[in-house]
Amino acid sequence: MASHPPVSHDGIDWEGALWECIAHLQALIRMDTVNPPGREIGVARYLDDVLRGAGIETTLMEPAPGRAALVARLKGNRSKRPVLMMAHMDVVGVEREHWKTNPFGGEILDGYLYGRGAIDDKGMLAVNLQVMLLLQHHLVRAGRILDRDVIFVATSDEEAGGEVGIDWVIANHPAILEAEYALNEGGRVREVDGRPLYAAVQCGEKVPHNLRLLATGSPGHAAIPLPDNAIVRLGRALAAVGAHREPLELGPITERFFAGMASLWPDAVLRQAFSDVSSGDPARRGRGATVLESHPVFNAVLRNGISPTMVSAGIRANVIPGEASATLNVRLLPGQSIDDLVARLHAAIGDDGVRIVVESRGEEAPPSPDDTGMFVAIRDAVAALAPGVPALPFLSTGATESAPLRRAGVRAYGLLPFPLTEEDEGRMHGHDERVSVSSLEFAVRLTWQVMTRIGTA
Ligand SMILES: [Zn+2]
Repeated sequence: MASHPPVSHDGIDWEGALWECIAHLQALIRMDTVNPPGREIGVARYLDDVLRGAGIETTLMEPAPGRAALVARLKGNRSKRPVLMMAHMDVVGVEREHWKTNPFGGEILDGYLYGRGAIDDKGMLAVNLQVMLLLQHHLVRAGRILDRDVIFVATSDEEAGGEVGIDWVIANHPAILEAEYALNEGGRVREVDGRPLYAAVQCGEKVPHNLRLLATGSPGHAAIPLPDNAIVRLGRALAAVGAHREPLELGPITERFFAGMASLWPDAVLRQAFSDVSSGDPARRGRGATVLESHPVFNAVLRNGISPTMVSAGIRANVIPGEASATLNVRLLPGQSIDDLVARLHAAIGDDGVRIVVESRGEEAPPSPDDTGMFVAIRDAVAALAPGVPALPFLSTGATESAPLRRAGVRAYGLLPFPLTEEDEGRMHGHDERVSVSSLEFAVRLTWQVMTRIGTA
């Protein structure tokens, strides 16, 4: 990211806002909220102090010792329903020995701010905080009126999907469900060759389920090999699962996403594949899908996904166990049935000695349409900051806190607002997670643009 085109003369000191945001992000990173155990209360108190110090009304809640949820509200004239700005305060763990900086140091090196959570999700948390402050200083205090309340929500326990996360907030502070829209993580602004190429706005997500494969066989002494050894049986079943391909299923979000990518992706072969797969012509669709199959991230939005993640069998070296099991993490496309998938897996495995048990069922959420005022605000905000860069509706393979909001009637959109290269995106949950200073500047401006567009007439 070199430089950005100037935006309208809004009287904001963007350089000052950027460095204020950076200071907040550094402070947030320096508070270790690795989940488990989370300990988000320190972050929540920090946010609470900053927001209240600016004269913004807050509610700090403690769902469990050390855990927290913070809700802050800027009041509008309420001619429209509120809009939420979401982010979670917890982060995933680190393997310190693989980091070149202190993961909880918030150091800036060569134009990048490093630290666990820089991308996921303290970066967005700091940007949302900064935009709340900007809205308060440059709009509310300046006497301009918001059409709707802007509600800042910081949650705990997102990474562990636990009991004190968004579901707790919804149950204990249901006022947030009055919102018409929400802005959350889950999308992407992809940077290629130093500039944003497209913004993928998450409008829906795959639904996670867990299955257990259970193979049984005759137990016995290992000195006498048995033909129905449960471990061997499980191995054959897993090989069949690995070879199994779920049917191609192109939903409307993914079709529009690939149609948009067909005109902007740098590589000609993939451009053709995107065009084919979104063409509506069954033969071309199949051809495109075959090309995309060798790219796991694209393949994952074209069909249901099945990943074996854990295996368990045996108690000691000289005992043949009577049972062996494996966990399969399944991500279903919207509108698909886990029971139908289980039936297809049964057929693919073809062994009655292997049972498939549904261990946990995910809950589907209706997608957020890509023609609402909020989607348009995001699209126009992106185009104002990066002319010619489109906002494309996007189905994410990962689950976010947007799903429970969508189920409750809030139209949530995922937009991680920093332009990220593919390489930097790979550092999310990995080593040396970082966000560039220029990306952060773009993120603050973009989020400000989105919120002023949706929040004022
Ligand atoms: Zn996250």
